[in-house]
Amino acid sequence: MNGAGAASASRRAEIIAVGSELLVPPRQDTNSLFITERLNDIGVEVGSRTIVGDDGASLASVLRGALERAGIVVLCGGLGPTQDDLTRDVVAEVLGRPLEEDLAVLASIRQRFAARGARMPEINRRQAMVPKGASVMMNPSGTAPGLWIEDGGRLVVLLPGPPSELQPMFERAVSERLGPSAGAERLHRRTIRICGRTESEVDEAASPIYRRWLSLDPPITTTVLTAPGQVELHLVVRVADAETAQAILDRATAEMQRIFGEDVFSADGRTLERVVGDLLRERGWTIAVAESCTGGLLSARLTDVPGSSDYVSFNVVVYSNAAKIRELGVPVDVLAAGGAVSEEVACAMADGVRRRAGADLAVGVTGIAGPGGGSEAKPVGTTCIAVVTRDARLVRTFRFPGVRTRVRLFGAQLGLDLARRIMIGCSPGGAFEIAGTRSPAADAR
Ligand code: AMP
Ligand code: MG
Repeated sequence: MNGAGAASASRRAEIIAVGSELLVPPRQDTNSLFITERLNDIGVEVGSRTIVGDDGASLASVLRGALERAGIVVLCGGLGPTQDDLTRDVVAEVLGRPLEEDLAVLASIRQRFAARGARMPEINRRQAMVPKGASVMMNPSGTAPGLWIEDGGRLVVLLPGPPSELQPMFERAVSERLGPSAGAERLHRRTIRICGRTESEVDEAASPIYRRWLSLDPPITTTVLTAPGQVELHLVVRVADAETAQAILDRATAEMQRIFGEDVFSADGRTLERVVGDLLRERGWTIAVAESCTGGLLSARLTDVPGSSDYVSFNVVVYSNAAKIRELGVPVDVLAAGGAVSEEVACAMADGVRRRAGADLAVGVTGIAGPGGGSEAKPVGTTCIAVVTRDARLVRTFRFPGVRTRVRLFGAQLGLDLARRIMIGCSPGGAFEIAGTRSPAADAR
């Protein structure tokens, strides 16, 4: 995204996360995401984020580049007491500010150890070394202090790596000091979530509109993001006043809703599982789920929502044919006639679980997740989903693209979406559906 409107260099930030552990898969740089969100909240745009290992030369080079581009550089990590923690030394060197021992910091580190009845190890003395002219942000949750350095119109902020130390320090010491001058403009966001159309369908229909939005004053920028079975439009506008922003984003959202109708399931931040839960709660309904290929993913999403015990009743994973017959009463001849992946079996699963649970609404999902098990007639990705209520029924056959993981995610998503649609009385969107598989009598109301 280019950002909404131009941020002056003094209100543009770069983030540098320091730590070799962040460059290998199991460790994630979550600090940068936190810092980005908080900076955006006070109107500071983040131009780039970099992860650098514990290597002085690389860090120095990244830092020099950042200082050329941005008015605010936030570094996190590498402030520990050990030899691999280089951030303060590199910052001191690049800014040409010699390190000096800060007696107040030293005393507070000593005090921290003393409070636990321990002596401060000599290596922790390094953490009291402060580049000349820096101001110290005390760290009540750890030994590494944060540092705030104003240098020739630029600001360099150093924060400790552990999120439990960084986050309170940012809220207390950084947001407040950056905040006042940020009064002017802030980024305001809105997410429109769509199910039932592919990414290219959404883009084709929406792009004439969001191109026009770019020439408005203030412009609205749009980013399109996709997940299996879901397309999101992220709208961003940069203005000072929250009410103006809401009015602009409300108008823009309404414009998209006119195009995409009930394929838009959320414009207020809610996930699909929460939307389904809210619809169930409004009706005082309960839901039951019978899953085969999705192996419990749909159920997991439903129960991810706090308070879902108000409406989730009985969810089962029936993987084998025997389980489908024994647990849900799927008729043997129905299984034999169409195979386990058929609209008839999906319906029988939904009917069976609804009956057993005594639920108001039930979902049945059966499909071929792959990589094996596909055939010419039913290739990998073929998935049948049925949703039934006391007096309505929706059933569809989809062909989801991608490998096993994606097929399963699609199945859970479209199962939730059909549950939403049967409650609001609208037809499914059509994306990923296999044309001509549906008998006209399949949907009953
Ligand atoms: P350090 O300040 O480099 O000694 O980092 C201490 C610990 O903080 C690391 O072992 C990580 O567990 C955590 N940490 C450091 N940087 C990050 C980051 N960018 N995101 C999340 N955790 C981090
Ligand atoms: Mg480190």
